[in-house]
Amino acid sequence: MTVTKQDIADTLARIPLPDALATEGKNTLADRLEWVATCEAYTSLKLHLPGLEDKNSMQAIAAAALDAIAAKLKDAGTPLQSLTVEFVDKPGAVIHTARFGASSPPQSTNTQRPAPGSQRPAPGPRPTPQSESSGLPGVKFAIAVGAGKGGVGKSTIAVNLAVGLARKGHAVGLMDGDIYGPSLPTMLALHSEEQQVHQGKLQPFLVHGIKAVTIGKLVDPEKPLIWRGPMAHGAFKQLAEQTEWGELDYLIIDLPPGTGDVPLTMAQTLRLTGAVVVCTPQKVAQDDAVRAARMFQQLGIDVLGVVENMSYFIGDDKKEYDIFGRGGAEQMAQRLGLPYLGAVPINMALRANSDTGDASANFDLDTAGGDALPRSLERLVANLESQVALASLSQGTKRPTLNIS
Ligand code: ADP
Repeated sequence: MTVTKQDIADTLARIPLPDALATEGKNTLADRLEWVATCEAYTSLKLHLPGLEDKNSMQAIAAAALDAIAAKLKDAGTPLQSLTVEFVDKPGAVIHTARFGASSPPQSTNTQRPAPGSQRPAPGPRPTPQSESSGLPGVKFAIAVGAGKGGVGKSTIAVNLAVGLARKGHAVGLMDGDIYGPSLPTMLALHSEEQQVHQGKLQPFLVHGIKAVTIGKLVDPEKPLIWRGPMAHGAFKQLAEQTEWGELDYLIIDLPPGTGDVPLTMAQTLRLTGAVVVCTPQKVAQDDAVRAARMFQQLGIDVLGVVENMSYFIGDDKKEYDIFGRGGAEQMAQRLGLPYLGAVPINMALRANSDTGDASANFDLDTAGGDALPRSLERLVANLESQVALASLSQGTKRPTLNIS
């Protein structure tokens, strides 16, 4: 039996708050639940308990949640593997984290910024129950991120869109389907993590508030990945369908680059809400991006927007340097009548944070080399949300099927 976010909330509704914390007519832990994500064996939650500052009391409350949730999951036939409870203040900053692993004793940390690779549920409102339009059970919107060629920052944009959406309170999954060069093990610092499989289902890694799976954890990282079409398609389908996603608002899918057989077949495999095309500003990059956009359109997949990556560079002198021809991708989007989601500058912090697997750092002024990067990423995320809302309105619940011969 699948345990849903609502089941977790119902479970927490049976835990009364101590009298001193039962204010404003809010009497149970469920009343103080800000965010929850669950994929059966893994659950994370965020609680806002005004007036609670004592860490021991927070730990005791987290332990009560652990007992109740573990019992609920046991009844459902899925032993709890891990629970993370974050206590947040009113603006959403984490003031205490309690982590419980299945085989390790309860641990607590007291941190504002968890280490790369650690779980970091997103701040923001609790997502409302949804209908599914992705074709994957529990997944509301499935969005592919594609590019005409490699090296333009497709994976970087996919990771940051996913983390940015999660930071706004959405339940987000990220699937690394780039079979030729899976980047997520590095970009999310998953190298030392073990891929868990439970009852034949891949358990996504819980990092930076998102659930992530990557083909890179299923193959030898040192070996070249030689895939033939059907094999690649099979692996991609398995990754999408045999992962325990739980309930997701957004599933972001990092596709292989290009418009060849493999990305084309993959794009057709799932019922996508739409696709994002990543491009750098140069003319040659635009030409490839046009082909990628046309591929999605020919498959009947809405292009939700174009992202201009490596748009410009901000030097130490704070001047903006136009290296590749800033605005080229925006003009291309206009020419094709496609939405433009925004530009991301060339940013050394972005490259460094990607290498250390700390995507959350791109959203904090202190670790993002100033405010240009967080602002541009937040703009991308907001524009994507709007485009998804528009696309889902125009698509309704049905999508046309197009056969390519
Ligand atoms: P792709 O998925 O298109 O092959 P990646 O996302 O793997 O490209 O990015 C390639 C390299 O460029 C990575 O090292 C990444 O950190 C870096 N990179 C991507 N976008 C930017 C940017 N805007 N500023 C600085 N480095 C970037």
